[in-house]
Amino acid sequence: MAANVAPRQPMPVLDLPSRRSSFGEIAQGFTPEQAVAEARRCILCKTPQCSLKGCPLHNLIPAWIKLIQEEKFAEAAALTRTTSSMPEICSRVCPQERLCEGSCALGIKHEAIAIGALERFVNDWAHEHGEIPLQAAPATGRTVAVIGSGPAGMAAAEQFRWWGHDVVVYDALEEPGGLLASGLPGFKLPLEVVRNRWKLLTDAGVRFEGGWRIGERMTVDDLFTGLFDAVFVAIGAWSPVVPNLPGRDLPGVVQALDFLRGGPDGLRVAGQEVVVLGGGDTAMDSARTAIRRGATRARIAYRRDESNMPGSRKEVKMAKEEGVEFEFLVSPLAFLAGADGRVRAIRVQRMALGEPDAEGRRRPTPVAGSETEVPAHTAVMAFGYRPDASWVGRELGVDLNADGNILVNAETGATSRPGVFAAGDCTLGADLVCRAVLTGRKAAAGIHQWLLHGDWAALAPLVPAATGAVS
Ligand SMILES: Cc1cc2nc3c(=O)[nH]c(=O)nc-3n(C[C@H](O)[C@H](O)[C@H](O)COP(=O)(O)OP(=O)(O)OC[C@H]3O[C@@H](n4cnc5c(N)ncnc54)[C@H](O)[C@@H]3O)c2cc1C
Repeated sequence: MAANVAPRQPMPVLDLPSRRSSFGEIAQGFTPEQAVAEARRCILCKTPQCSLKGCPLHNLIPAWIKLIQEEKFAEAAALTRTTSSMPEICSRVCPQERLCEGSCALGIKHEAIAIGALERFVNDWAHEHGEIPLQAAPATGRTVAVIGSGPAGMAAAEQFRWWGHDVVVYDALEEPGGLLASGLPGFKLPLEVVRNRWKLLTDAGVRFEGGWRIGERMTVDDLFTGLFDAVFVAIGAWSPVVPNLPGRDLPGVVQALDFLRGGPDGLRVAGQEVVVLGGGDTAMDSARTAIRRGATRARIAYRRDESNMPGSRKEVKMAKEEGVEFEFLVSPLAFLAGADGRVRAIRVQRMALGEPDAEGRRRPTPVAGSETEVPAHTAVMAFGYRPDASWVGRELGVDLNADGNILVNAETGATSRPGVFAAGDCTLGADLVCRAVLTGRKAAAGIHQWLLHGDWAALAPLVPAATGAVS
């Protein structure tokens, strides 16, 4: 391994006052000079763990980093797009420190290569210097309905056009992109980046039908009645986990996605103390959104300690820089009302960490006699999300696991109902964008096989998808 390694190139970021008051993207992106300098730090491992072990999509990382070293940016961008359906998005939102960069060999003794920043650089460069269009093969005459326009649906739609199948993507929302457009805040992922990706898809012939909640205006049976040869379900996990806490219906107690979905014009919290309950990316995004909407204080109350938090480390660091405070080892007991009937505080209990659970994270246990109150004008519940099991069970007629996730063959996305495939959060539980893309691509390949050969038995044995559940 190289003895003298140059320091990692720092990502230019928006200044702190702008970060605290606007939803502008924080990371500004590398300059070409920075990208080449950073790429030249890479030792181009022959057995690259970043790609083989760290990246769920097995992106060809050293191969495109070598192209950046040679200043072949367009070629590098084209290569990133062979394994990923949205590299400009994954590069912005993946928790790289736990994925590719966490497996970087250089990172054992030095700072890991800034793989995410390089992936973003070449794709932004390609967008600015004449976008690379998506390829569509000659029409096969086969048609697929995609339910849900998030990353799993988008990844599959891209693949269907690549093979020449017609595809219509239905979404309950008018804006395509799933959580990318209607959940993740703009300071992490600008809406424009999602819209650019959607333009590539529609330019390649993907049809989008917004405002269509399948199950209401049209059923899955309708989709099969002469319209489509296969149905791909990518409806995500949008049902909030709501613990049975007294006072949870008080005014001022809100669900994280409701809080986030308003964007800059959402629920006003100017001058308020906001407390967010939870420890994942959704909690972090909510607290940082509260700061940007003018909260005087934004606190995250989490039942484990910092080292056992599931969210991305870089997001935690940035949240702290922006003024988000953390209360570790506290668990909510009840929401308390003020004289005006709104929430005024959350009664919490201190926790201690016990033995590790099945995922290896230490289990929090209550400390007797440790109850206290945390003042809150607004309390945001970010306890996690699950697929809408009632809809999938009733409407789709597919088998679910105990958590309400759709059971699929993990390699083909086939469900228990012939012709119906599924991927993304509705099969994994709330997870990560890169795994929604991966499972979307695998299911698309499964559907392609089904359309070609019609051999359901070969695709169908149900194997529960591995749950990553780290977001
Ligand atoms: C606040 C927040 C922050 C996150 N931050 C990160 C991050 O930084 N990095 C990361 O990797 N992951 C992050 N995630 C997780 C990531 O967004 C999800 O894992 C990913 O979006 C899942 O993709 P999907 O395609 O399965 O579903 P979704 O993106 O949820 O899309 C599902 C779509 O299906 C539509 N739909 C549902 N039911 C129907 C129906 N009956 N008919 C028609 N349409 C329907 C919905 O309207 C939605 O548009 C975050 C999640 C949240 C909530």
